[in-house]
Amino acid sequence: MSDASAASPSNTASGSPDAIVVGSGPNGLAAAVTLARAGLEVLVLERASTIGGGARSGALTIPGFTHDLGSAVHPLALSSGFFRRFELQKRIELRVPEISYGHPLDGGLAGLAYRDLERTVDALGADGPAWRQLFALLVQNAHRVAQFTGSPLLQLPRHPLTALRFGLRALEQGLPSWNVRFAEPLAPAMLAGLAAHSIRPMPSLSTAGAALALGTTAHARGWPIPVGGSQSITDALADDLRAHGGSIVTSAEVSDVRDLPAARAVLFDTSPRALARIAGDRLPLRYRRRLEGFAYGNGVAKVDFALSGPVPWTNEELRSTPTLHLGGSREEIAAGEAEVEAGGHPESPYVLVAQPTVIDASRAPEGQHTLWAYTHVPHGSTVDREAAIVAQIERFAPGFRELIRASSSRTAAQMQQQNANYLGGDIAVGEPTLGQLVARPVLSTDPWRTPARGVYLCSSATPPGPGVHGLAGYYAARSALKHEFGYDAHPYLGTGAPR
Ligand SMILES: Cc1cc2nc3c(=O)[nH]c(=O)nc-3n(C[C@H](O)[C@H](O)[C@H](O)COP(=O)(O)OP(=O)(O)OC[C@H]3O[C@@H](n4cnc5c(N)ncnc54)[C@H](O)[C@@H]3O)c2cc1C
Repeated sequence: MSDASAASPSNTASGSPDAIVVGSGPNGLAAAVTLARAGLEVLVLERASTIGGGARSGALTIPGFTHDLGSAVHPLALSSGFFRRFELQKRIELRVPEISYGHPLDGGLAGLAYRDLERTVDALGADGPAWRQLFALLVQNAHRVAQFTGSPLLQLPRHPLTALRFGLRALEQGLPSWNVRFAEPLAPAMLAGLAAHSIRPMPSLSTAGAALALGTTAHARGWPIPVGGSQSITDALADDLRAHGGSIVTSAEVSDVRDLPAARAVLFDTSPRALARIAGDRLPLRYRRRLEGFAYGNGVAKVDFALSGPVPWTNEELRSTPTLHLGGSREEIAAGEAEVEAGGHPESPYVLVAQPTVIDASRAPEGQHTLWAYTHVPHGSTVDREAAIVAQIERFAPGFRELIRASSSRTAAQMQQQNANYLGGDIAVGEPTLGQLVARPVLSTDPWRTPARGVYLCSSATPPGPGVHGLAGYYAARSALKHEFGYDAHPYLGTGAPR
C-alpha cells in the first residue's frame, strides 16, 4: 500500500500549488504526473484512506491474501499511449500469460484466446479461418487500433483505413446477424464474453466495439497481470509524481471547490455529477445540467475469495489461465445481460473471473490462491450475488466450493460506498452507449475542459472511457497545460528528470 500521508488539504508544503487533482485513480495520477513533469507544483487530494481508486490492492479476506479491489487484468497497461511513454513496463513487472482469456462451455470444452493468433485459429477448428479473418488485420495494426480506440471518437481518425476496418467489423458484430460468419458455438461465445465487458445489452455497436478492441489486445501484446496487484501500477505513478515534486494527501474529500487552496487548474477525477456538485455555480447552469443529465449504467456485484488450492476447472488449460469469461454460449450471455437491463438478476449470469495467483504466487500463502469475480446487476442493486457467482464457477469447476477459506462480497450499492465515482455500482462511470462514448460527458472536441476557467474533468467519464490506461488524465492535463499554463507544444512526460 502507498505511504501517502493523511493531512488536511491546506497542509501542503507551499500552500499554493499550481494545479490540484481531486482523486487519485489512474487517471488522476496520470494527470498529476503529466503536470508535474511539465515543471508544475501538483497536489493530489484523495477521499479514501489509500490511493489508486479502481486500481488498488489490499487485504479483503484473511491474512496472507492480497486482493485487487478494482481492476485485475491490464491489457491497456501495455497498449495505452500514456503508459508506453511513462515506460510502465520498466517500472513494474507485468506478467503476460500465454492464454489471454479462456471461455468454458459445458462438457469441458473451452475457447482459448492464445496471444498467438494462429494458435487460436488452430484451436477453433472449423471457425478458425473466420476468427483469423475477423482479427488478423486488426492485430497486425494493433498500435493503430489502440490509437483509434484510445482517442475521442469526435475527431478524424489518424489511421482512417484501420478505423474503417474496425468500424465495418463492429457493424457486423453489432447487429443481430452477428453469427453469420461462424458455424459453431465457441467463437461466438468468446466474442460475447469480450462484448460483455461493456455491461450493456448486446448486440450493439458499442458492445461490438468493446469486443473487437479487447480481442485485438488479446492477440497483440496480451492481457498482463501486474505482479503484486493493480496497486503496483498506482504506486509506480505515485512514486514518479513524488519524484517530480508532487504531493498526495489521503482522507481528503473535496466537497466544495471554494475550500481548495488557490490554484490555476483543478482537475477532477470524479463523476460528472460530483463535479457539478463540487464546482457548483463556478460552472454555467446549462453545462451543469448536462453533467447532471449524464446517464449511469448497470452495476457490478463483486466477490473475492481466498482459496486453499487451485481451482479444478474441468478444462485443464483453464487451470493456468488468469482471466476467464463464464456464462456459457453467446445466446445465454446475451439473455443474461438483457435480463440485467430489464432490472433482473439472472440465475445463470455472466461472470468475469481473474485468478491472478496462477501467474503471480506472491499474493497468497504457498499453494493457495485468490480468485476475483464480478457479475452484472441492475443499477443500484443491493442484492448479494455470491451464491450465483459460486454456482456459475461450480458449473465449470466442480469442487470449487470446497476450496473457499474466506470470501468478501460487495453489492453494487456497496461498490459506490467504496468509490464515490461508481454511482449505483456503475464502474464505467457513465453508461458506455455509442452516444455517451461520443459525448463523454458532453459533445466537445475538448471534453476534459469545462466552461469554468481552470476547471477540468479527467476521470473515465471522459474519453477514452473506462479502463486502467491513464489516457483521460493525460489528455486533460495536456488541455490544462495548453489553456492555463501556455504550453503550445506537448511537453508532457518530456523532461523526465526528477526534481
Ligand atoms: C471491480 C472493478 C473491476 C475492474 N476491472 C478492470 C480491469 O480488470 N482492467 C481495467 O483496465 N479496468 C478495470 N476496471 C476499471 C478501472 O478500474 C477504472 O476504469 C479506472 O480505475 C478509472 O480510473 P479513474 O482515475 O478515472 O477513476 P477511479 O479509479 O475510480 O478513481 C477515482 C478516485 O477519485 C476519488 N474521489 C472521488 N470523489 C472524490 C472527492 N470528492 N474528493 C476526493 N477524492 C475523490 C475516489 O476515491 C477514487 O480514488 C475495474 C473497475 C472495478 C471497480
